[in-house]
Amino acid sequence: MLSIPDLIKKKRDGGALSDEEIKAFIQRVTDKTIQDCQTGAMLMAIWQKGMTDKEIVTLTKEMMSSGEVMSWPKEWAGLVVDKHSTGGVGDKVSLVLAPALAACGYKVPMISGRGLAHTGGTLDKLESIPGFNIQQSTDQIKNILDSVGCCIVGQTETLVPADRVLYGMRDVTSTVNSLPLIAGSIISKKGAESLSALVLDVKFGRAALYKDLDSARELAQLLVKVGNSLGMRTGAALSSMDGTIGRCVGNSLEVIECLETLKGKGPDDLMELVTTLGGLLLKMTGSVSDLSEGKKKISDAVIGGAALSKFQAMMEKQGVDSEAARALCSTDTDYYSILRKSKHQIKLETPADGEVVDVDGMMLAEVLHKLGAGRSKSGESVNHSVGAKLLVSLGQKVQKGERSTMMLMFRFAKLRILLWSRQDPPYEAARLVGIRHVTSMPCFALLSKKEYFLIRIKLAR
Ligand code: URA
Repeated sequence: MLSIPDLIKKKRDGGALSDEEIKAFIQRVTDKTIQDCQTGAMLMAIWQKGMTDKEIVTLTKEMMSSGEVMSWPKEWAGLVVDKHSTGGVGDKVSLVLAPALAACGYKVPMISGRGLAHTGGTLDKLESIPGFNIQQSTDQIKNILDSVGCCIVGQTETLVPADRVLYGMRDVTSTVNSLPLIAGSIISKKGAESLSALVLDVKFGRAALYKDLDSARELAQLLVKVGNSLGMRTGAALSSMDGTIGRCVGNSLEVIECLETLKGKGPDDLMELVTTLGGLLLKMTGSVSDLSEGKKKISDAVIGGAALSKFQAMMEKQGVDSEAARALCSTDTDYYSILRKSKHQIKLETPADGEVVDVDGMMLAEVLHKLGAGRSKSGESVNHSVGAKLLVSLGQKVQKGERSTMMLMFRFAKLRILLWSRQDPPYEAARLVGIRHVTSMPCFALLSKKEYFLIRIKLAR
């Protein structure tokens, strides 16, 4: 039997592990015959020395085969597709894209995750709908795909158990941001869904995992290479993640924005992402000849209401009371007759005339996180009703006293806005936010009683 200390030493010293060695490591992680300290040491060795493309492909294949690999009826050949996003603020694309693809005849077994740190999770958003059950067995997933065409569920017990162990340990060993480990983790789960095609939305910008375009591109290229080597047609889009996607951030609010989008009233940036990612999938699977045709098909499925019907059917199949699902999908719904409403709402006013030239999505997410919308540790609960709705958009001219942001809060926090203009340097505000020097001016500061935040909604005059 291969010795684990020898494998760790080989990787620590910069060697490339053979297929047999990677297989042995993953096997022992899966059957729990390796000590946690050894797994941690190997993760750190991989983080430090990296892996060759060949090693990454083998790692991903072995992780994928550590558990159940789903199989689909022959008639679905070429039709089983999914998308993965590296995460952002207000990223609700899956809730619109999955039903739109189902409306185009695809099968979408979307296995999603929960939010961690500042990024929201698709499962948390869906769980703000009373009754929505994200836990479905493989048989139930097949059943929903057969009748509806899409489902959005959590990772099943039997799917990629090696990732469950490694992912948990990466968090506590500071080895999350390693390209081989990210690729292995993401692509092994998608591989276990036995997809015909996968589209990746790799984000860059201040509210993304990777801040700059070059590192996002490097991750995208690696994910595409590994996905293709597993036999899934894989493509990627690079999209900027500086502000927010759409105007709403926070679980219930994002569900409402998705339902509005599925009723043909969605924000342009969200529709652009949905149609681009969906259009790419249609092109990759050969059902359209170019991207613009694919985008149009997806857009028609959304605007024409077919995607909304799929979303309603998916909700019902995943446990939502049919009366509630119908009400959420009907026109002129009072969403809050079904969804939980926050206790407090406050509208922040624009303190001077100007034009909105920037929204800092990261800062907004951090404020909401503190107000209870997010979690700091996996397993923590989140408050679904906390959120923010931007009442202004980039480029919009605003006037003093106009409402810019609506904050929905679970517990009351005193919020104030200060404006710094180019003419008046932000001395007082800088003191309040505890910084000496503010580079992006003018902007709003949002202050709560105990903590000070800076929401960089820049105003140009
Ligand atoms: N999502 C995953 O599933 N794994 C990673 O490593 C990063 C994002």
